[in-house]
Amino acid sequence: MSTYGPRPVTFVRGEGTRLWDDAGKEYLDFLCGISVTSLGHAHPAVAAAVCEAAGTLLHVSNLFWTEPQRDVAATLDGLLGGGGAVFFANSGAEANECAIKLARRFGGRGRHSVVSAYGSFHGRTLATLHATGQPAKHEPFQPLPEGFRHVAWDDPAALDAAVDASVAAVLLEAVQGEGGVNVPSPGYLAAARRICDERGALLMIDEVQTGLGRTGRWWGFQHDGVAPDVVSVAKALGNGVPIGACWARAEVAAAFQPGDHGSTFGGQPLAASAARAVLAELVRIDAPARAEASGGRLREAVGDLPGVLSVRGRGLLLAAELDEGLAAGEVAVGALAEGLVLNAVTPTALRLAPPLNATNEEIDEGVRRLAAALVGLGAQPRRGC
Ligand SMILES: *Cc1c(COP(=O)(O)O)cnc(C)c1O
Repeated sequence: MSTYGPRPVTFVRGEGTRLWDDAGKEYLDFLCGISVTSLGHAHPAVAAAVCEAAGTLLHVSNLFWTEPQRDVAATLDGLLGGGGAVFFANSGAEANECAIKLARRFGGRGRHSVVSAYGSFHGRTLATLHATGQPAKHEPFQPLPEGFRHVAWDDPAALDAAVDASVAAVLLEAVQGEGGVNVPSPGYLAAARRICDERGALLMIDEVQTGLGRTGRWWGFQHDGVAPDVVSVAKALGNGVPIGACWARAEVAAAFQPGDHGSTFGGQPLAASAARAVLAELVRIDAPARAEASGGRLREAVGDLPGVLSVRGRGLLLAAELDEGLAAGEVAVGALAEGLVLNAVTPTALRLAPPLNATNEEIDEGVRRLAAALVGLGAQPRRGC
C-alpha cells in the first residue's frame, strides 16, 4: 500500500556499519533502520542466535515458558533496576499499547486518561496514535479511542496543570525522536516524576528509540536521574528482529490478571533468542560508553560542517539543524548519492543514528560523505571567528 513515499534504493546486503544496494554500491548506515540495528548489520552473535533458534524451537505460544524469553526478561529487569516484570510484544506501538492498558487497569474506571506531549511519537495503532502528540496525524482516523490529552513538551507547568485525579499516567519520551530529536531541559523528567507522585499517576517512559545505550546511558531517563513506573522498549532490542517489551515495577505489573492482555508471537523464541544475544553484546561492549564517546566525536565533526547551524541530541541520537535555504530532504537524497544513509527528521534537520559499535574511521568517513553532500547542494563554509 502507499503508506511510504517513493523508495530510492533497494538494499540487498549489510555488514557492520555498511550496506550494499542491488547495483553493488556501498553505503555507510547512519540511520540504523531508525535506531534499530545498534550493533550493525549481520552481527555474527545475533546471526548465530537466530540460526540456532530456527533449528531448535521457533514457537510454542505464551501458554508455555521458553528459555530465551525468561533470560531476556531477567536481563531487561536488571538493566531497569530490578524488581519489576516484563510483557513481550512485537513492536514499539504494541509495547506502548501494553503500557496504556496497564495504566488503565492500575488506575481503574475514572482514572484512565493518559497525558503525553505535543511533538511526541508513540506508535500507529489507534490508541498509540492518539497518544502521539501530532494532531495532523489524528485527523484522517477520527474518532480515536478517548482518554488522551496532550501538553506542551518540556513545560513542567503545562504538565502540572493537566495532571488531575482522572489521569492514570503521564507518557513521555526521554528524548523526542521522531519529533526532531528534542532533548528536554534538565529537570523536566524529574518534575514529571514529582507531579505524578503528588497526583497518584504513573510515570511511563517510552524508550523505544532512546533505550539500550543509544543516548550514552542505558536509558534516556537516567540523564535526569528518575525512576519510572513503566518503560517501553523495542527498536534496538532485536537488532532488526521484531520484538518489543513493556516493563513495569512489580506493584504496577500486578494489576494485570491472567487474560487481561496477550500476544501470540510476543517474545517467541526466535525474537527472544536474538534479543538475548543483542543484550549480551550491548553489555559486553559497554554500549552506553561507546555511544557517549562516538556521539561526542560525531557531534563535534558535524557541527563544523558547512551548512550546519547546530547539532542537538544525546549520545548517538543526533540531529543536525541546517542553514536556511537547505532542505533536509534534499540533503538526505544527496547524502545517499554520496554513500551515506540518514534521514530528514524534520524539514530542516537531519537525524544521525549510526551503530553504537561504529569505528572512529567509519564515523569520520560518514562525516566526509555528509560534507560532500552539503557542499554539492551549495552549503557555504562557515566563516572563521
Ligand atoms: C518507533 C517508535 C515507536 C513505534 O515503534 P513501532 O515498532 O514502529 O511500532 C514508538 N515510540 C517511539 C519513541 C518510537 O521512536
